[in-house]
Amino acid sequence: METLIFWSLVAEVKEAKCRKKGELTTEKAPISTVTLRSFPKINTGGREKESQLVFQKNRGFLAFSPSPVEFLGTAAVRHHLFSELTRVALAAAVLAACVLSAGRVVSGQASAPTRDTSLRVSVLVYHRFAPVVKDSMTVRTSTFRWQLDYLKQHQQPVITLRALVSYLEGKGAPPPPRAVVITADDGHESVFTDMLPAIREYQVPVTLFIYPSAISNASYAMTWQQLVALRETRLFDIQSHTYWHPNFKTEKRRLSADAFRAFAANQLVKPRMVLEKRLGIRPDVLAWPFGIYDDELLAMAREAGYDAAFTIDGRAVTSREQIMALPRFLMTDKATGSTFAAMVGSGK
Ligand SMILES: [Zn+2]
Repeated sequence: METLIFWSLVAEVKEAKCRKKGELTTEKAPISTVTLRSFPKINTGGREKESQLVFQKNRGFLAFSPSPVEFLGTAAVRHHLFSELTRVALAAAVLAACVLSAGRVVSGQASAPTRDTSLRVSVLVYHRFAPVVKDSMTVRTSTFRWQLDYLKQHQQPVITLRALVSYLEGKGAPPPPRAVVITADDGHESVFTDMLPAIREYQVPVTLFIYPSAISNASYAMTWQQLVALRETRLFDIQSHTYWHPNFKTEKRRLSADAFRAFAANQLVKPRMVLEKRLGIRPDVLAWPFGIYDDELLAMAREAGYDAAFTIDGRAVTSREQIMALPRFLMTDKATGSTFAAMVGSGK
């Protein structure tokens, strides 16, 4: 009996349909995560977790989450009352089968929708502007002008965020070499007072990620009228930064799994409805508040109707990204000289 269960489970692992969940990239190397749908869900601390394989490219198999020990500790497996020896053998078999599955997925997967190895677009994210530096998120207006001037002098094209997303979706033309995208998060009033005049002067496109609860409400935020005026310049595109900019990590800790899903779904869907009502637009791109995301949130953003989403993982967008977690460079007043040149890919 034990042997039968043992081999049927090994067969199941081998046959497991691996669903590519996209690529995550750590500072060191790209890591891929694959969810094994036919594996039982694992209950960890009252929260259901999918069985996943995590492996690092070039190094093959890296880790199996949950670990085979955790996996074998689940009720579904435990009730078979395996002998200790069988459990150890099973753990080894699961690991071996996972390596095989991982190999198949690695060799079969397209690492990018386009396979364009030359793609390198720097997406910059600003927050606030002021004549003087007030905090780490403030860029002096003079610094911003210096940066725009640098891009102009070095003939680096500033493209729309949509052009980049469309290309990543396999719909649009490839961005020109050394292209840069400018974004600004949070809908701060200084976008209207300080950023707008510079943008008018340099005639470059900008995408704003705003959270509607602050607009015409928080003292530091723009009004709906100001957003309308920005759109009328045809240089500003407005997209979603969730409804009230929650810290999803904190909320996940605080809420039950079901309550968190309901909360996150509302935060993702509501801004789309409000922006449509207020501005007559349908945002299809998201910026993760505080740059926080995980696999569950990435899947939920897709379900909520977003085509792409952006983080603050400071590096350029290449062909290896997953579209729901595209990196951006967080701009500070220190981003001048060689620091800025390196960000926009024109440094030595
Ligand atoms: Zn933000």
